[in-house]
Amino acid sequence: MSLSIKTPLLESTPLSWINGTKVWLKVEAMQPSGSFKIRGIGHACEHHVSRGAKRFISSSGGNAGLAVAYAGRRLDVPVVVIVPETTSERARHLLGQEGAEVIVHGKSWFEANELALSLKTSDDAYLHPFDDPLLWYGHASMIDEVVTDGLCPDAVIVSVGGGGLLAGVAEGMQRNGLNDVPIYAAETEGMASLNASIKAGRLVQLPKLSGVATSLGAPQVCQRAFELARERPVVPMQVTDREAVEACLAYLDDHRTLVEPACGASLALLYGRKLSLSKLDNVLVIVCGGSTATVESLTRYIA
Ligand SMILES: *Cc1c(COP(=O)(O)O)cnc(C)c1O
Repeated sequence: MSLSIKTPLLESTPLSWINGTKVWLKVEAMQPSGSFKIRGIGHACEHHVSRGAKRFISSSGGNAGLAVAYAGRRLDVPVVVIVPETTSERARHLLGQEGAEVIVHGKSWFEANELALSLKTSDDAYLHPFDDPLLWYGHASMIDEVVTDGLCPDAVIVSVGGGGLLAGVAEGMQRNGLNDVPIYAAETEGMASLNASIKAGRLVQLPKLSGVATSLGAPQVCQRAFELARERPVVPMQVTDREAVEACLAYLDDHRTLVEPACGASLALLYGRKLSLSKLDNVLVIVCGGSTATVESLTRYIA
Protein backbone atom coordinates (compact mmCIF):
# COMPACT_ATOMS: atom_id res chain seq x y z
CA MET A 1 0.00 0.00 0.00
CA SER A 2 1.34 3.39 -0.94
CA LEU A 3 0.17 6.72 0.46
CA SER A 4 0.21 8.33 -3.00
CA ILE A 5 -1.98 7.22 -5.88
CA LYS A 6 -1.33 6.51 -9.54
CA THR A 7 -2.45 9.75 -11.18
CA PRO A 8 -4.10 10.25 -14.59
CA LEU A 9 -1.98 10.92 -17.67
CA LEU A 10 -4.17 12.97 -20.01
CA GLU A 11 -3.60 14.46 -23.41
CA SER A 12 -4.55 18.14 -23.29
CA THR A 13 -6.46 19.13 -26.40
CA PRO A 14 -6.25 22.91 -25.77
CA LEU A 15 -2.52 22.92 -24.89
CA SER A 16 -1.73 20.59 -27.79
CA TRP A 17 -3.46 23.00 -30.18
CA ILE A 18 -1.69 26.05 -28.78
CA ASN A 19 1.76 24.45 -29.02
CA GLY A 20 1.47 22.42 -32.22
CA THR A 21 2.47 19.17 -30.51
CA LYS A 22 0.94 16.58 -28.22
CA VAL A 23 0.95 17.92 -24.67
CA TRP A 24 0.44 15.38 -21.90
CA LEU A 25 -0.63 16.27 -18.36
CA LYS A 26 0.58 14.20 -15.40
CA VAL A 27 -2.17 15.28 -13.04
CA GLU A 28 -0.45 15.30 -9.66
CA ALA A 29 -3.11 17.75 -8.49
CA MET A 30 -5.27 14.64 -8.01
CA GLN A 31 -3.03 13.26 -5.26
CA PRO A 32 -4.46 13.04 -1.76
CA SER A 33 -3.02 16.13 0.00
CA GLY A 34 -3.40 18.03 -3.28
CA SER A 35 0.10 17.90 -4.73
CA PHE A 36 2.90 15.58 -5.86
CA LYS A 37 4.55 16.06 -2.45
CA ILE A 38 2.83 13.01 -0.97
CA ARG A 39 4.85 10.79 -3.30
CA GLY A 40 8.19 11.64 -1.72
CA ILE A 41 6.98 12.56 1.73
CA GLY A 42 4.77 9.48 1.90
CA HIS A 43 7.74 7.33 0.99
CA ALA A 44 9.95 9.08 3.56
CA CYS A 45 7.31 8.78 6.30
CA GLU A 46 6.87 5.05 5.67
CA HIS A 47 10.63 4.64 5.78
CA HIS A 48 10.86 6.48 9.14
CA VAL A 49 7.99 4.48 10.65
CA SER A 50 9.67 1.23 9.67
CA ARG A 51 12.71 2.51 11.59
CA GLY A 52 10.58 3.20 14.67
CA ALA A 53 9.66 6.88 14.35
CA LYS A 54 6.85 7.77 16.77
CA ARG A 55 6.12 11.31 15.59
CA PHE A 56 6.60 13.44 12.46
CA ILE A 57 7.81 17.04 12.62
CA SER A 58 7.50 19.56 9.79
CA SER A 59 7.93 23.31 9.51
CA SER A 60 6.03 23.76 6.27
CA GLY A 61 2.76 25.66 6.20
CA GLY A 62 2.35 24.64 2.57
CA ASN A 63 1.94 21.48 0.57
CA ALA A 64 4.87 19.69 2.22
CA GLY A 65 3.29 20.16 5.65
CA LEU A 66 -0.06 18.99 4.28
CA ALA A 67 1.56 15.87 2.88
CA VAL A 68 3.21 15.11 6.25
CA ALA A 69 -0.12 15.66 8.02
CA TYR A 70 -1.92 13.35 5.59
CA ALA A 71 0.79 10.68 5.88
CA GLY A 72 0.66 10.87 9.68
CA ARG A 73 -3.10 10.46 9.73
CA ARG A 74 -2.96 7.45 7.39
CA LEU A 75 -0.08 5.81 9.29
CA ASP A 76 -1.56 6.67 12.68
CA VAL A 77 1.48 8.70 13.69
CA PRO A 78 1.06 12.09 15.42
CA VAL A 79 2.25 15.12 13.45
CA VAL A 80 3.48 18.50 14.69
CA VAL A 81 3.79 21.34 12.18
CA ILE A 82 5.52 24.53 13.31
CA VAL A 83 4.62 27.46 11.09
CA PRO A 84 5.55 31.15 11.19
CA GLU A 85 3.00 33.89 11.97
CA THR A 86 2.82 34.73 8.26
CA THR A 87 1.11 31.41 7.48
CA SER A 88 -2.41 31.94 6.19
CA GLU A 89 -5.51 31.06 8.14
CA ARG A 90 -6.45 28.71 5.32
CA ALA A 91 -3.19 26.76 5.56
CA ARG A 92 -3.54 26.38 9.34
CA HIS A 93 -7.11 25.22 8.88
CA LEU A 94 -6.15 22.60 6.27
CA LEU A 95 -3.37 21.27 8.51
CA GLY A 96 -5.73 21.09 11.47
CA GLN A 97 -8.29 19.25 9.37
CA GLU A 98 -5.72 16.53 8.68
CA GLY A 99 -5.30 16.15 12.43
CA ALA A 100 -1.89 17.79 12.75
CA GLU A 101 -0.97 19.83 15.81
CA VAL A 102 -0.15 23.31 14.51
CA ILE A 103 2.24 25.51 16.52
CA VAL A 104 2.61 29.11 15.39
CA HIS A 105 6.07 30.43 16.12
CA GLY A 106 8.28 33.25 14.84
CA LYS A 107 8.15 35.86 12.14
CA SER A 108 9.79 33.82 9.40
CA TRP A 109 10.10 30.26 8.24
CA PHE A 110 13.66 30.26 9.56
CA GLU A 111 12.48 30.83 13.13
CA ALA A 112 9.70 28.24 12.84
CA ASN A 113 12.19 25.74 11.48
CA GLU A 114 14.64 26.41 14.32
CA LEU A 115 11.94 25.51 16.83
CA ALA A 116 11.01 22.42 14.79
CA LEU A 117 14.61 21.20 14.87
CA SER A 118 14.95 21.95 18.60
CA LEU A 119 11.77 19.95 19.40
CA LYS A 120 13.02 16.86 17.62
CA THR A 121 13.84 13.94 19.89
CA SER A 122 15.33 10.58 18.89
CA ASP A 123 11.76 9.22 18.58
CA ASP A 124 10.83 11.84 15.97
CA ALA A 125 11.39 12.11 12.24
CA TYR A 126 11.88 15.58 10.76
CA LEU A 127 10.65 15.89 7.18
CA HIS A 128 12.48 18.37 4.98
CA PRO A 129 10.29 19.84 2.20
CA PHE A 130 12.72 19.19 -0.66
CA ASP A 131 16.33 18.34 0.24
CA ASP A 132 16.16 14.59 0.93
CA PRO A 133 17.00 11.61 -1.31
CA LEU A 134 14.03 9.72 0.18
CA LEU A 135 11.75 12.40 -1.28
CA TRP A 136 13.38 12.30 -4.70
CA TYR A 137 13.06 8.53 -4.78
CA GLY A 138 9.34 8.81 -4.06
CA HIS A 139 8.76 11.65 -6.55
CA ALA A 140 10.49 9.58 -9.25
CA SER A 141 7.55 7.15 -9.27
CA MET A 142 5.52 9.64 -11.34
CA ILE A 143 7.89 9.06 -14.25
CA ASP A 144 7.69 5.27 -13.82
CA GLU A 145 3.91 5.60 -14.21
CA VAL A 146 4.20 7.74 -17.34
CA VAL A 147 6.50 5.19 -18.94
CA THR A 148 4.29 2.28 -17.86
CA ASP A 149 1.36 4.10 -19.50
CA GLY A 150 3.34 3.90 -22.74
CA LEU A 151 4.45 7.52 -23.10
CA CYS A 152 8.02 8.37 -24.04
CA PRO A 153 8.23 12.17 -23.74
CA ASP A 154 10.74 14.27 -25.74
CA ALA A 155 10.56 17.14 -23.25
CA VAL A 156 9.35 17.47 -19.66
CA ILE A 157 8.22 20.64 -17.88
CA VAL A 158 8.43 20.99 -14.08
CA SER A 159 8.18 23.84 -11.59
CA VAL A 160 11.14 24.45 -9.30
CA GLY A 161 11.05 25.65 -5.70
CA GLY A 162 13.81 24.01 -3.68
CA GLY A 163 14.38 21.53 -6.47
CA GLY A 164 13.04 18.34 -4.90
CA LEU A 165 10.53 17.80 -7.68
CA LEU A 166 13.22 18.41 -10.28
CA ALA A 167 15.57 15.95 -8.56
CA GLY A 168 12.82 13.32 -8.39
CA VAL A 169 11.73 13.74 -12.00
CA ALA A 170 15.35 13.55 -13.14
CA GLU A 171 15.86 10.39 -11.09
CA GLY A 172 12.76 8.84 -12.66
CA MET A 173 13.93 9.80 -16.12
CA GLN A 174 17.37 8.38 -15.46
CA ARG A 175 16.05 5.02 -14.37
CA ASN A 176 13.80 4.87 -17.45
CA GLY A 177 16.52 5.67 -19.97
CA LEU A 178 15.37 9.27 -20.55
CA ASN A 179 18.53 11.03 -19.44
CA ASP A 180 18.97 12.91 -22.72
CA VAL A 181 15.43 14.30 -22.72
CA PRO A 182 15.46 17.99 -21.74
CA ILE A 183 13.72 19.19 -18.60
CA TYR A 184 12.35 22.74 -18.73
CA ALA A 185 12.54 24.11 -15.20
CA ALA A 186 9.95 26.83 -14.53
CA GLU A 187 10.18 29.49 -11.83
CA THR A 188 8.45 32.81 -11.28
CA GLU A 189 10.71 35.86 -11.46
CA GLY A 190 10.54 36.59 -7.71
CA MET A 191 11.38 32.98 -6.77
CA ALA A 192 14.01 32.19 -9.40
CA SER A 193 16.65 30.53 -7.20
CA LEU A 194 17.59 27.84 -9.74
CA ASN A 195 17.84 30.39 -12.54
CA ALA A 196 20.14 32.50 -10.33
CA SER A 197 22.44 29.60 -9.42
CA ILE A 198 22.73 28.41 -13.02
CA LYS A 199 23.54 31.94 -14.13
CA ALA A 200 26.16 32.36 -11.40
CA GLY A 201 27.68 28.94 -12.06
CA ARG A 202 27.50 28.09 -8.36
CA LEU A 203 24.86 27.69 -5.66
CA VAL A 204 23.66 31.15 -4.67
CA GLN A 205 21.05 32.36 -2.23
CA LEU A 206 18.50 34.96 -3.33
CA PRO A 207 18.61 38.03 -1.09
CA LYS A 208 14.83 38.13 -1.09
CA LEU A 209 11.84 36.26 -2.41
CA SER A 210 8.71 37.86 -3.78
CA GLY A 211 5.43 37.13 -5.46
CA VAL A 212 2.40 34.87 -5.43
CA ALA A 213 4.02 31.49 -6.08
CA THR A 214 4.71 30.86 -2.39
CA SER A 215 5.28 27.13 -2.89
CA LEU A 216 8.34 28.00 -5.00
CA GLY A 217 9.74 30.14 -2.18
CA ALA A 218 13.12 28.58 -1.41
CA PRO A 219 15.93 31.18 -1.30
CA GLN A 220 18.38 28.51 -2.43
CA VAL A 221 17.83 25.27 -4.34
CA CYS A 222 19.29 22.04 -3.00
CA GLN A 223 22.76 21.02 -4.12
CA ARG A 224 21.32 18.08 -6.08
CA ALA A 225 19.12 20.33 -8.24
CA PHE A 226 22.11 22.48 -9.09
CA GLU A 227 24.28 19.47 -9.93
CA LEU A 228 21.59 18.09 -12.21
CA ALA A 229 21.65 21.24 -14.26
CA ARG A 230 25.30 20.41 -15.00
CA GLU A 231 24.84 16.67 -15.55
CA ARG A 232 21.87 16.56 -17.89
CA PRO A 233 19.88 18.95 -20.09
CA VAL A 234 17.98 21.31 -17.75
CA VAL A 235 16.70 24.54 -19.28
CA PRO A 236 15.88 27.26 -16.72
CA MET A 237 12.82 29.35 -17.59
CA GLN A 238 11.07 32.27 -15.89
CA VAL A 239 7.54 33.62 -16.02
CA THR A 240 5.87 36.58 -14.34
CA ASP A 241 3.42 36.21 -11.47
CA ARG A 242 0.64 37.41 -13.73
CA GLU A 243 1.47 34.79 -16.36
CA ALA A 244 1.46 32.07 -13.68
CA VAL A 245 -1.89 33.18 -12.27
CA GLU A 246 -3.49 33.56 -15.70
CA ALA A 247 -2.26 30.09 -16.59
CA CYS A 248 -3.97 28.72 -13.44
CA LEU A 249 -7.26 30.31 -14.45
CA ALA A 250 -6.97 29.10 -18.05
CA TYR A 251 -6.12 25.62 -16.79
CA LEU A 252 -9.17 25.71 -14.51
CA ASP A 253 -11.43 26.58 -17.44
CA ASP A 254 -9.81 24.07 -19.79
CA HIS A 255 -9.25 21.14 -17.42
CA ARG A 256 -11.66 21.74 -14.54
CA THR A 257 -9.03 21.64 -11.77
CA LEU A 258 -7.70 24.43 -9.58
CA VAL A 259 -3.91 24.57 -9.11
CA GLU A 260 -1.53 27.00 -7.37
CA PRO A 261 0.57 29.67 -9.11
CA ALA A 262 3.59 27.44 -8.32
CA CYS A 263 2.09 24.98 -10.79
CA GLY A 264 0.90 27.80 -13.04
CA ALA A 265 4.57 28.66 -13.66
CA SER A 266 4.92 25.42 -15.65
CA LEU A 267 1.57 25.83 -17.37
CA ALA A 268 2.45 29.42 -18.34
CA LEU A 269 5.29 28.13 -20.51
CA LEU A 270 2.65 26.29 -22.54
CA TYR A 271 -0.20 28.83 -22.45
CA GLY A 272 2.30 31.56 -23.36
CA ARG A 273 3.95 29.45 -26.09
CA LYS A 274 7.35 30.24 -24.59
CA LEU A 275 9.03 27.07 -25.89
CA SER A 276 9.29 25.99 -29.50
CA LEU A 277 7.86 22.53 -29.30
CA SER A 278 6.26 21.98 -32.70
CA LYS A 279 9.07 19.69 -33.90
CA LEU A 280 8.56 17.40 -30.89
CA ASP A 281 6.06 14.55 -30.73
CA ASN A 282 5.18 14.38 -27.03
CA VAL A 283 5.66 16.99 -24.33
CA LEU A 284 4.96 16.09 -20.70
CA VAL A 285 4.03 18.70 -18.11
CA ILE A 286 3.93 17.80 -14.43
CA VAL A 287 0.74 19.39 -13.10
CA CYS A 288 2.17 19.54 -9.59
CA GLY A 289 -1.07 20.91 -8.06
CA GLY A 290 -1.18 22.62 -4.67
CA SER A 291 -3.89 23.21 -2.06
CA THR A 292 -3.31 26.76 -0.92
CA ALA A 293 -4.89 28.74 -3.77
CA THR A 294 -8.58 29.59 -4.09
CA VAL A 295 -10.46 30.94 -7.11
CA GLU A 296 -11.01 34.09 -5.10
CA SER A 297 -7.28 34.58 -4.33
CA LEU A 298 -6.32 34.07 -7.98
CA THR A 299 -8.94 36.39 -9.44
CA ARG A 300 -8.16 39.04 -6.81
CA TYR A 301 -4.52 38.95 -7.83
CA ILE A 302 -5.12 39.80 -11.48
CA ALA A 303 -8.06 42.17 -10.87
C1 LIG B 1 6.58 22.09 -3.39
C2 LIG B 1 5.91 22.51 -4.62
C3 LIG B 1 6.64 22.88 -5.77
C4 LIG B 1 8.14 22.94 -5.81
O1 LIG B 1 8.73 21.74 -5.45
P1 LIG B 1 10.27 21.72 -4.99
O2 LIG B 1 10.53 20.30 -4.69
O3 LIG B 1 10.38 22.60 -3.78
O4 LIG B 1 11.07 22.26 -6.11
C5 LIG B 1 5.92 23.21 -6.90
N1 LIG B 1 4.58 23.20 -6.90
C6 LIG B 1 3.86 22.85 -5.84
C7 LIG B 1 2.38 22.88 -5.93
C8 LIG B 1 4.50 22.49 -4.66
O5 LIG B 1 3.77 22.14 -3.59
